[in-house]
Amino acid sequence: MIIVSACLCGCNCKYNGGNNYNEKIKKIYDEGEAILVCPEEMSGLSTPREPVEIQGGSGVDVLEGRSKVLSANGTDVTDKFIKGANKVLEIAVKNNVKKAILKAKSPSCGARKIYDGTFSGKTVEGNGVTAELLQLNGIEVLSEEDF
Ligand code: SF4
Repeated sequence: MIIVSACLCGCNCKYNGGNNYNEKIKKIYDEGEAILVCPEEMSGLSTPREPVEIQGGSGVDVLEGRSKVLSANGTDVTDKFIKGANKVLEIAVKNNVKKAILKAKSPSCGARKIYDGTFSGKTVEGNGVTAELLQLNGIEVLSEEDF
């Protein structure tokens, strides 16, 4: 089984209540090979919610306490993001998952590239919090941009 960001399969769990539907990724789900997750909703955050970005670092910095996940007006959701990431990891371990396909650039799901914390659409190298935690635990993390 593969862990997949739910928004890529059309679930309206994106911060603004929309989704990031991707036909190729949905096909994987339709074939019964995917477990859908949304770490932000699984953390207890509601949808819609304020957009947030990692400030001054990436997922590894958040997990190691050097960076925070904040909205533009300073709401701190760092603890929620760590909680959501751990819930996804728990599901991955339970189901012996070895691979994840996660939404690019997201502060939770982003693989290798995330928004830079300025809310300007610019990106920096680095993983989101969930992507980082999965990778640290030996799970291969890809984004929809790899397909
Ligand atoms: S947390 Fe991940 S699955 Fe949830 S909306 Fe954001 S990118 Fe999609």
